[in-house]
Amino acid sequence: MQKSFIFEYQNKSYPVVVTYKRIRNTIYKYRDGAFYVSSSYFVTLHQIKNGLEKFAPKLLKHGDSNKFSEDNAYLFGHKLEVSNNGGVITFTDGTSLKYIDLEDLEDKLKQIYFDYMIKSTRYYEYLMGIKEPYKIKFKKMNTRFGSNSQRTHSIQYMDDLFYFSGDILNSLIVHELAHHFVFNHSKAFYDIVYKYCPNYNKDNKKLKRRQFI
Ligand SMILES: [Zn+2]
Repeated sequence: MQKSFIFEYQNKSYPVVVTYKRIRNTIYKYRDGAFYVSSSYFVTLHQIKNGLEKFAPKLLKHGDSNKFSEDNAYLFGHKLEVSNNGGVITFTDGTSLKYIDLEDLEDKLKQIYFDYMIKSTRYYEYLMGIKEPYKIKFKKMNTRFGSNSQRTHSIQYMDDLFYFSGDILNSLIVHELAHHFVFNHSKAFYDIVYKYCPNYNKDNKKLKRRQFI
């Protein structure tokens, strides 16, 4: 069973996803702008909010604790069988990827993800009638998945979203490109987003909850 709510902390809103399990202790995690709480069935939302008040400063300071590992090795929504001792991954199109350990693999998956984001951004620029291509940068970001700077005509994406399916990544691309036309998150902005990404709400929710598919 899952519940979610919005937690306000220092003038910012964070989505909180609570998963109820047969456990004794309540576990608080933070990743990519959202809190994830595992809790027993007997803990009330009020108690969880009190816990967040207490743990949020520490969790926000230390950021991502979910490192790339054998358990969460995904590329574009597909689970990969990998080993920290290295190996070869063969894709369905016949290409393969050789890696020496998980750190090396993570770098290589990032590279594949960068290529995808650049190509897909170009594609949506074309669809949306954006004449001048955006400069694209990838950065480690803790609270946002992307940003669009009109001043420098550049878009920044979080540098390690390779876990997510193409549809989910495209929803992020459309969001950032829609800012080319509308700066804020008004209705006019979402009218553009929905035009190019009809499933935006579903895909964006998955991004925030780190649901890869
Ligand atoms: Zn935005």
